[in-house]
Amino acid sequence: MSRFFTKTLSALQPYTPGEQPQNMQYIKLNTNESPFPPAPGVLDAISAEEVSKLYLYSDPDCKALTEAIAKRYGLRPEQVTVGNGSDEVLWFTLRAFCDEQTPLAYSDITYGCYKTWCSMLNVPSKILPLKDDYSVDTALYRGLNATVMVTNPNAPTGICLPLADIEDVLRANPDNVVIVDEAYVDFGGESAVSLIERYENLLVVQTCSKSRSLAGARLGFAMGNPELIADINRIKFSFNPYNVNRLTCLAGIAAMEDEDYFRACTGAVAATRDRVAAELKEMGFALTDSRANFLFAESSRIPGGELYRKLKEKGILVRHFDKPRLENRLRITVGSDRQMDALLAALRELGA
Ligand SMILES: *Cc1c(COP(=O)(O)O)cnc(C)c1O
Repeated sequence: MSRFFTKTLSALQPYTPGEQPQNMQYIKLNTNESPFPPAPGVLDAISAEEVSKLYLYSDPDCKALTEAIAKRYGLRPEQVTVGNGSDEVLWFTLRAFCDEQTPLAYSDITYGCYKTWCSMLNVPSKILPLKDDYSVDTALYRGLNATVMVTNPNAPTGICLPLADIEDVLRANPDNVVIVDEAYVDFGGESAVSLIERYENLLVVQTCSKSRSLAGARLGFAMGNPELIADINRIKFSFNPYNVNRLTCLAGIAAMEDEDYFRACTGAVAATRDRVAAELKEMGFALTDSRANFLFAESSRIPGGELYRKLKEKGILVRHFDKPRLENRLRITVGSDRQMDALLAALRELGA
């Protein structure tokens, strides 16, 4: 840190992203990307003609993209806004709906960025511990007097909350915004989008990074009542009005319009997940019931950190979090069948 770095952020602990080796010498199962390329229409949408228009700014309203998302989810365009990855959208929601007096409530074991953003924005965290089996204790979510973040399915556990529980949280916190981060919902979760018309305090945030094979394009979106969406747009237009670039707008539209490809990819990932989970259980691994595109697995024989390093030596990258209650677990992205067979073979060789 230089002596010029602002003192107010001297304690900031940035989020550590999963390793992104640029030469692909690894089987990469560490950052929950899709093993499949983007929908074929994405490649057609990003033509040389479109690249030649990059000297012009993108549409600050992302009108065509917003309309495509609204259409896909049965919403009106004013119920949708987009951002540079759902990370940015989530940051906007924290900026809009939290402050020193309005904490953010979230689980002790969940997506690490929430904590980082809270410290960056000077927002207090209200930490709600998961039960011993990593399930959510919904009794803790009543009258919180905080903006509430529900990650559904949760990361890195993959555990899903039924819609009835989300509805309970919405009803128990009528004067606070409840954000449901649905980054992984397309692999078998139940989306809260269907509740938007009934709950004015609900914001659903999704991403094209995982289920639509566009992690590198950076595209996420929020869905909710038009006033909440307008609030998020106030933040966006006070920060970076051109936050979604021209090529990503086009890629996002093409991805939204190809429902068959979307279903084929998410279905294949879910099927591979369930097959590999069954094999790992047979080998003695402890697993949660993951409805996401990753497994949260614990070997009965090799500690988590050691297994992570041994897999890396064998050319397979997975994610290990050196934190309480997580240190013996690995978060393993569900890749292609071939990649997962290589993982299972490596685990057998290692005696895991
Ligand atoms: C991956 C992820 C995100 C962020 O995804 P973007 O690539 O920024 O769209 C947000 N929340 C959770 C829980 C995630 O796992």
